[in-house]
Amino acid sequence: MVSNGTECGGQDEWSPSSWRSKPIKQVVTYDSQSALSAALAKLSSLPPIVTPTEIVKLKSSLKDAAMGKAFLLQGGDCAELFSYCSDDPIDSKIKLLLQMSLVLIWGSNKPVIRIGRMAGQFAKPRSSPTEMVDGKEIPNFRGDILNGFDPAARNPDPERLVSAYFHSATTLNYVRGQLASGIADLHNPLDWGLGHVRDKGLQERYKKIVHSISDSLRFMRTVGADTAGQLQTVDLFTSHEGLVLEYEQSLTRRLKHPAGSISYSSSTDGKGWYNTSAHFLWIGDRTRQIDGGHVEYFRGIENPIGIKVGPSMKSDELVKLLDIVNPTKEIGKVTLITRYGEGKVESMLGQHIEAVKAGGHVVVWQCDPMHGNTRSTPTGIKTRSFSSIFSELSSALKIHKEHRSFLGGMHLELTGDAVTECTGGSEGLEDEDLSLNYTTYCDPRLNEKQALELAFLVAGHYRE
Ligand code: PEP
Ligand code: MN
Repeated sequence: MVSNGTECGGQDEWSPSSWRSKPIKQVVTYDSQSALSAALAKLSSLPPIVTPTEIVKLKSSLKDAAMGKAFLLQGGDCAELFSYCSDDPIDSKIKLLLQMSLVLIWGSNKPVIRIGRMAGQFAKPRSSPTEMVDGKEIPNFRGDILNGFDPAARNPDPERLVSAYFHSATTLNYVRGQLASGIADLHNPLDWGLGHVRDKGLQERYKKIVHSISDSLRFMRTVGADTAGQLQTVDLFTSHEGLVLEYEQSLTRRLKHPAGSISYSSSTDGKGWYNTSAHFLWIGDRTRQIDGGHVEYFRGIENPIGIKVGPSMKSDELVKLLDIVNPTKEIGKVTLITRYGEGKVESMLGQHIEAVKAGGHVVVWQCDPMHGNTRSTPTGIKTRSFSSIFSELSSALKIHKEHRSFLGGMHLELTGDAVTECTGGSEGLEDEDLSLNYTTYCDPRLNEKQALELAFLVAGHYRE
C-alpha cells in the first residue's frame, strides 16, 4: 500500500495500486513479468498527457450538464487503432464533432461540451477471451494497447502499453495544434454536404437548420461578438475506457489542484490523484462490479468519470456504486452512460432516474444509443440500425422530461470517414451495403453523414 494514499468516506485506504487487492475482470496475462515491469517503469517516468487545469475545467463544465445547463457530446471509434494516428482521420473527426456540436447548440440553446473517444481509446473488453479463426482457437483482439488484430500478434505485448502512451500523446498534440491553428475557426465556411439526403422534406428541414446556423454566425461576426476570439477555437477533451489498470495506475500522479479550484477529496496538501492519460475515463458495463478492481481504482481519482449502465444494473446497485465513487456527492463528477437498447430503455431508465434522485446524487445523464442496439445480419455482420439508435435517444429524451430530469448528453461510436457499418440514415444503407466499406475492428460506427443526421434529429427534437 502506498503511504500517501487517501481515506475515502470511511472506506479502506485508497492508493493508485489498491485495485490490485480486489477481484479483476478482463485480466491480462503477460508472458514476461520483467518486460511488463520495464514498460510500467517507463510509463511512470513519462510526463502527463493532460493536466489538472484541463481536467478540472472539464469537470466544472460537466457540472453544468448535470444541472441541465449544457449538453455533452462524446464520440469516436469503438476501438481506436495506432494506425488512426494520422492527420486525415483526426482532422475529419475534429470537424465532425465540431459540426455536430453547432447543430446541438442551435437545437438545445445550450453550450455543448465536446469529448472525443480518442487519443487513448485503445483497450477493448471482450465477452470471450478467444475466437475461432480459420478453424483455430486464438486469443481475441483486445485493442492495440494489448495485442494486435493480426492473428499472429494476439499474444499481449507489454511494449504496446508504452506505444499507446506515445500514440495518445501524438494524437492529442495534433488535435491541440489543429485547434490552435484554426481548424475550428467559425469564420471559415463549413461544408455541410446534404446532397445524400434522399427524402426531399428531410433535406429541406436540414437545410433550414444549416441556414439558421450560418445566419447566426454571420450576425455574430458582423456585430463583432467574437472579439475575445471565441469563434476561432473550441475545447475538445479526450476520453477512453479505463480498462487496463496497470496503464492507468502508471499515469496517475499526485499533482497540485489548479489555483482557485474546490477539491472534494480529503487532501491536506492541496494535491490530488489525477489520471493524466485522459481528461475523462469511464468504467465499462463489464467491469463495474461494486467490489471489483476497476471501481476501486476509479473511486480515488480526481477526474470526471463515466459509468456505463446496461440493462442488468439494479437500482440499488447503481446508488451504491455512486456512493462509492462519489461519496461527497460532487455534482457532475459522474456521468451515467445509459445503454439499455431501444426495447429496454422504457422499462429501465425511469427507475434508475428515481433511484439516483432518491440517493441524493446529481449526475450527468448521457445516452449511449449504440451498445444496446447491436445486431447481426443473416450473414453474420455486426451492425446497428440508425432507426434503433434514434429511437433509444428519443425515448431517453422523453423519459427524462417525464421524470423532471435532463438528458445531459449523448455518447456515440462514430467516424469522420465514409464507412458502411450501421444501416439506415438518409443514404438508406441496407444490410447488403455493409460490405462496401466495413472497416471497424470492433463495433460498428456511424459514418459522418449518419452522425450529423443524428445531431439534426436530436436538435429538431429540442426545437419541437
Ligand atoms: C464501448 O463503449 O465500446 C463498450 C465496450 O461499451 P459497454 O461497456 O457499454 O459495453
Ligand atoms: Mn463499442
